[in-house]
Amino acid sequence: MSIKQNKISRSARDKPCTARIPGGTHDPATTVLAHAPFSGKFGSRGQWWWSAYLCYECHELLDDRNMKMTREEKNLIWFAAVHETQEYLIEQNLLKVLL
Ligand SMILES: [Zn+2]
Repeated sequence: MSIKQNKISRSARDKPCTARIPGGTHDPATTVLAHAPFSGKFGSRGQWWWSAYLCYECHELLDDRNMKMTREEKNLIWFAAVHETQEYLIEQNLLKVLL
């Protein structure tokens, strides 16, 4: 699992930002695999696969506790970003769904 995790972390390099919060530049050179801050219960970090490709700016904005966005607004952005990232990971065979 750790090998896959590293591959997925490395896969974030130069990828488009999946959060795209208005006002940012979303420079792909700054994209990292960012762990979403919940996994069913608030206040806990998600599983390693509950993550999204985020540019530096969006990562900072979503981690900022003083930002003028509600938790619900942030969660909507996180959900859309995690969904888009997982779609990509599944397409690239980095994350497998067994049916
Ligand atoms: Zn961004």
